Amino acid sequence: MDLISDNQLFCLIEELVLQHSPSGAEQEIDGWLLERFATLGQETWQDAAGNLIVKVPGKNPGAIAITAHKDEIGAIVKSIDNRGRVEVRKLGGAFPWVYGEGVVDLLGDHACISGILSFGSRHVSHEAPQKAQQDQAPLQWQNAWVETKCTPKELDAAGVRPGTRMVVGKHRKRPFRLKDYIASYTLDNKASVAILLELARNLQRPLVDIYLVASAKEEVGAIGALYFSQRQALDALIALEICPLASEYVIKEGSAPVLLSQDGYGLYDEGLNGLIRQAATRRKIPLQLATINGFGSDGSIAMKYGHVPRAACLGFPTQNTHGYEIAHLGAIIHCIEILYTFCTQVQVDYENIQKSQLKGRWGVLDFMKG
Ligand SMILES: [Zn+2]
Repeated sequence: MDLISDNQLFCLIEELVLQHSPSGAEQEIDGWLLERFATLGQETWQDAAGNLIVKVPGKNPGAIAITAHKDEIGAIVKSIDNRGRVEVRKLGGAFPWVYGEGVVDLLGDHACISGILSFGSRHVSHEAPQKAQQDQAPLQWQNAWVETKCTPKELDAAGVRPGTRMVVGKHRKRPFRLKDYIASYTLDNKASVAILLELARNLQRPLVDIYLVASAKEEVGAIGALYFSQRQALDALIALEICPLASEYVIKEGSAPVLLSQDGYGLYDEGLNGLIRQAATRRKIPLQLATINGFGSDGSIAMKYGHVPRAACLGFPTQNTHGYEIAHLGAIIHCIEILYTFCTQVQVDYENIQKSQLKGRWGVLDFMKG
């Protein structure tokens, strides 16, 4: 395989981050991805739920989906007052204090209007509702607004209306490099989309059919992955995700990816995880294992609803999740290597797995026989 370098990966993620894609209004990144897909020489399409799919045909019967959601969190317009101030509410797990005051983009039907996410002046007394935010209460979306200096008429002309999506402005979206780390908004999950693109560029004749899915609307309930997995028969689904670093979890920062055993939606499949661990071992890549809370993925949600018999979630350790995220570029590259090996070589070990004490649980993975 032709492995991407740290610098190339940083540039690829930067391009992806700069394509706005709030859940359900993902046209900008769709256009960019479709252009990219057209150069692959593989079958590609967009389904009715907005997922973008690359199918890489395999040598044997069987099908596995690898997903990376292309949508990002942000906010959604609730109302516009007669001064042209825009009220917004959360879209996915977004908090106003995480963004802070600064430039945001309102994706109107006809034009993008940049404004300032505003919380009000700090030089106030107890008479002002803002006083409590300084020492007592966390800032809520209902206490924030977007200042555009546009009249309601101008906003209407741009197609800014209730339901319009708000995201961090491109003005402050460009990622920042910290040695081997990339720091940026929306590494969740643009960095995983980069993994998907690198798999699409490298995979030729895998063991079974591989569907590489840039999934839609994950941040609002894995809507895209549920739609796709309900219609496409799959033997397994592997979700690519950020993995939150927190003192309560055993996960360490750095270049070792993380494989989840459990999250807030339930268990992942131990058999599938075993195969992914083998792929990592084969490439001598250390892999961390974890169970986490307050988290879900395309994988755990699709499995919970009975759309796939088994699911896994492979991620890279990430600081400040759903905020200004920081991740090791090497961990992201390791995810590409592990999945490439999984898709092209893991069947070699199938015979040994069959002989192991786990035999009964592996029988269903017949397609791995090759
Ligand atoms: Zn995510």
